[in-house]
Amino acid sequence: MHEKKTKIVCTIGPSSWEPEIMKGLIDAGMNIARVNAAFADPEEMDRVRKLVHGISDEVALMIDIKGPEVRLNKFPEPIEIQVGDEIIIGNSDDCEIYPSNYKDLYKSLEAGQRMVVGDGDVELELKEIQGDKMHCEVKLGKLLKPGKALNLPGADYSSTVLTEKDKERLGHGMKTGWEMVSASFISDKESAQEVRDFMGDSEMRLIAKIENQEGVDNIDDILEIVDGIMIARGGLGVEIGLEKVNIAQRILTKKAAEAGKPSITATQMLESMTENPRPTRAEASDATTAVLLGSDALMTSAETTTGKYPVDAIKFLTKAAHEAERYVQPKIVTTPSLISRETDAITKAAAEVCINMDDEIDAVLVVSKTGRTAGNLGRHGISQPIYAFASDGFYKRAVMLYKGINRAFVYEGIENDCQDYDRDIGIKVIIGLGKEKGVIRSGQTVLFLGRPPMGRKEFFPNIFEIVKVE
Ligand code: PEP
Repeated sequence: MHEKKTKIVCTIGPSSWEPEIMKGLIDAGMNIARVNAAFADPEEMDRVRKLVHGISDEVALMIDIKGPEVRLNKFPEPIEIQVGDEIIIGNSDDCEIYPSNYKDLYKSLEAGQRMVVGDGDVELELKEIQGDKMHCEVKLGKLLKPGKALNLPGADYSSTVLTEKDKERLGHGMKTGWEMVSASFISDKESAQEVRDFMGDSEMRLIAKIENQEGVDNIDDILEIVDGIMIARGGLGVEIGLEKVNIAQRILTKKAAEAGKPSITATQMLESMTENPRPTRAEASDATTAVLLGSDALMTSAETTTGKYPVDAIKFLTKAAHEAERYVQPKIVTTPSLISRETDAITKAAAEVCINMDDEIDAVLVVSKTGRTAGNLGRHGISQPIYAFASDGFYKRAVMLYKGINRAFVYEGIENDCQDYDRDIGIKVIIGLGKEKGVIRSGQTVLFLGRPPMGRKEFFPNIFEIVKVE
């Protein structure tokens, strides 16, 4: 298990289905396995869950729901096209090409609509609607591939971010212990709230995929509702233009960090590694930049779903993250975190101690029931490793969203057993566990943080102390 601070999200697909490849990804530094609900029914979700957890119980699971994403049907072969060609998109399998999940799309679009296929390899313009057929002109591209997403910048064709299919996948994830859901096309407070309402009191973490200008403009409101964001550069590139993606990435990373919510930088980070064993200079630089900007996690898509070098891609991201982390300057974040003032105050004080005693303190141990206190500490970018001790396996994996946390563990039975713990027993138990897990050793000095929720005695004693490990 790699002790980098930056997290890595791998999208799982045919290239990563073999158990030895999955083990390779985990050994190389993957922290979160993301499954795309466009291609995975509940049965497939179960298969991936068992595959991942059969290898490691430290990797979190994320189901990515697609919302109003339109997908082309899986026509038998990629179709060769040329600029200027006419393509007809129908509304049933009587036509070679049709939108498989929005068959009536033609009713909501107008001539002039830009249609971008996948991440932008192909662009079409809707010229005319005749009956239920959309006559489109090829503006860009050579090969139209089956099953790809059809992006419709600016079009208003759906009133929900949660389709029936999404509800089924998300509901299944909630029932079977998935730690996170990433929801596509969250563009305002209402769309974020719609997903949150469906989730009820589930502890599953809600990640908003920001993929259009509205989402960027409404980021403050969205951050109030969700647990983190994904900077979905695929969608953003199509919707706002490639030349604006880097600036949007900077704005979103900064806003999320200020709100104390983690951010994931996604899409095409090492795209050329789908074919080549090494990334380009520009891709390597993109990974470094994301870490230096303060992103909590880096994400792969095609690199690990269909690429030829999935494990090499993750090995490279880990190497790049490690290197970049050496240049991250610790900085006390003073903006309120949207978690709680109490948590902010305690973690700010802990970060001050770590920054002022940089040479003396080797690590921070945080006993944090849900992992949120540990995650909140991570946002200050302290150089010491942070080890979180959460109350169960779900919370242990859920903290894999936060950049500062190097490893997380469970103290089994902490909820029941700790009621009678005093300071001495609490410290002895957790230090013993840290030594047993090999993350601390005798002679080191650690900052020990034990966090009972304010006003409650249960769970763990309230401890904020510098401790010498015996
Ligand atoms: C994206 O648009 O950048 C993205 C992550 O979307 P998808 O879920 O389609 O990979």
